[in-house]
Amino acid sequence: MVKYRLMISADMENIKKLRPASGVDDPSFNYYLKMKCGNCGELTKKEISVNSKEKVSNSWDSPNLIMKCKFCEKVGTVTVISGKGRPLTQGLSEQGKYAPLMELDCRGYEPVEFMFGSGWKAESIAGTNFEDIDLSEGEFAEYDEKGECPVTIYNLRSTINVLMSDFKEMLLDYKIRRERCDAEQRARKKENESHL
Ligand SMILES: [Zn+2]
Repeated sequence: MVKYRLMISADMENIKKLRPASGVDDPSFNYYLKMKCGNCGELTKKEISVNSKEKVSNSWDSPNLIMKCKFCEKVGTVTVISGKGRPLTQGLSEQGKYAPLMELDCRGYEPVEFMFGSGWKAESIAGTNFEDIDLSEGEFAEYDEKGECPVTIYNLRSTINVLMSDFKEMLLDYKIRRERCDAEQRARKKENESHL
């Protein structure tokens, strides 16, 4: 199991906030991703679509998607981890920084590319809400009547970072325990020496 964090950024003109339509953790928001098979390296021909609402089974720990590599037939799963998204604010955008959109738990597959689809919402600096924005073409441009200015979103960017895997956590845990054990041994040795 490996966890990934998807982060997004964009250039925004007169836009205060960009996020999925029903909030950062919108359960029906579809994330479009290109995946790579962890076994043979084959890329999915078409992007997969995953959201946190639809599950493979009714079980609480069910993944949101199960997939099989067309090439080597290896089966893998994708699970959306809720509660990790933040809106892309004007401040972040102006500094060229990224906002976390979501986290994923993947088994057997690696997400390699995110595609901006539809279902986005943006709030202008004048307070106008633009609903159901489609960013699949890579940009959005409208006129804000209230603010009497154009509003645009363009130069969409995304990154996918690996978060610590269970294996790394295990290693770190081992290292901490090992250091503690060494420190105890040193202390004991010192104590013994002081008795001599
Ligand atoms: Zn494969």
